Amino acid sequence: MKRLYEAPAYGPQGACYWADTVAAPTTGEPFSRSAATDVAIIGGGYTGLNAAIRLAGAGLDVTLLEAEHPGWGASGRNGGFCCLGGSIVPEAALARRFGADAPTQWETLQDQAVTHVDDLIRAQGIEVDRHSDGETVLAHSAKSWARLKKANDASARLIEASDLAEHGLGGDWFGAMTTPTGFALNPRKYHTGLWDLAARSGVRLFSHSPVTGLTNGNSWHLTTPKGVLRADQVVLATNGYSADDLPDWLRARYLPVQSSVIVTRPLTRQEQEDQGWWSDQMAYDTRQLLHYFRKLPDDRFLFGMRGGLTAKAREQKAISTRIRSDFARLFPAWAQIDITHEWSGLVCLMADLLPFVGPVPGHAGLFAAMGYHGNGVAMGSYAGDLLARHMLEKAPLPDMLCAPPGRFPLGRFRRHLLRPAYLMADLFDL
Ligand SMILES: Cc1cc2nc3c(=O)[nH]c(=O)nc-3n(C[C@H](O)[C@H](O)[C@H](O)COP(=O)(O)OP(=O)(O)OC[C@H]3O[C@@H](n4cnc5c(N)ncnc54)[C@H](O)[C@@H]3O)c2cc1C
Repeated sequence: MKRLYEAPAYGPQGACYWADTVAAPTTGEPFSRSAATDVAIIGGGYTGLNAAIRLAGAGLDVTLLEAEHPGWGASGRNGGFCCLGGSIVPEAALARRFGADAPTQWETLQDQAVTHVDDLIRAQGIEVDRHSDGETVLAHSAKSWARLKKANDASARLIEASDLAEHGLGGDWFGAMTTPTGFALNPRKYHTGLWDLAARSGVRLFSHSPVTGLTNGNSWHLTTPKGVLRADQVVLATNGYSADDLPDWLRARYLPVQSSVIVTRPLTRQEQEDQGWWSDQMAYDTRQLLHYFRKLPDDRFLFGMRGGLTAKAREQKAISTRIRSDFARLFPAWAQIDITHEWSGLVCLMADLLPFVGPVPGHAGLFAAMGYHGNGVAMGSYAGDLLARHMLEKAPLPDMLCAPPGRFPLGRFRRHLLRPAYLMADLFDL
């Protein structure tokens, strides 16, 4: 498979805290047969599982092939912010391309995505260690605080710097804004809940079953190391773990980017007071290369930011040093607290800065949903569900999601675009 990063980027990339909190699902042996199915799903993260659950619920025979163990991709190792987001396209550009209503339509889609996950976990009784009442953004500079105040919409709540301490949001911030939409969850518990629900819904689930070949004759043929699956329709749900030749159409249309996370040991009440941070809010800062963080229900602290430009050992060591020093700078009272877990994973950018959800042009029966720009807990889940509904009922997809994605410049060297982008963002964030 033609993948963009060095092999370690496609491995576990460290010790993920969530793996310690959930028993792995017991279903999903390797696929080792010759079989036929109505719909084959490639990739068992939130996107693939949400699509599978909807399709199987409508009575289709659905087979899901996951390359590694359940929860191995970004869906099993993210920050657990079920929040607005999914695109990084500026509003004005969205309006220019898709019409004046497009920004409002995009806002609605983001709200619907959060509601979709909320409804699903409530209806299915999935226990996800939920916390946080919406999401809080913290201004890292006077300028960004002024911008937040200017952009403030009616539903958001502003907190002046002088009032942050009483909200348990202590630190060197210029102010905060809380948007009421969204909540935090344990991403692996949500994933395991989905995997189990898919099994109960009749989805044939296979793990350790990488699809290595995808060809189309009378039907689609998916090859794994030990089997062949024939399918009338295929859903590509591989996101940041995609390959440029599965299928060739994907070449240069997506850009995987590493994101890194650390988690501390549980903080005592005194330690939380020392830093002035005891809030349950999930939060991020206003930097272009933002930090995201939250106190977990067991009093550990999770802190994440962009990952390394490569997966080489030297670069990974550098990013490990950087995330620790950024953490110590923003939360100085905790600079000496043990960090018990540290890991990275791949998120996925698209050249048009929007997710793609829809039929793959020129490939009858092939569909894809991907590219949530680091915000796929809600949007990836919803995208899988939207795509399945489109496949079942021909439900129209919003233009901004199903517009065929363009290609990045530089082809297989496109991740070199990230270095200057990160440098510029670092300068901007000073
Ligand atoms: C460190 C980190 C922190 C993040 N934090 C947040 C956050 O707080 N909030 C948020 O909204 N988003 C966050 N994200 C992004 C979010 O996790 C993803 O957008 C989302 O999980 C994407 O889901 P997915 O199902 O599309 O892809 P994934 O969960 O990545 O699943 C893709 C799956 O496809 C499988 N696959 C790939 N190729 C093949 C093949 N050939 N055959 C079979 N299977 C294959 C992979 O093994 C993988 O399991 C974060 C991501 C990372 C890495």
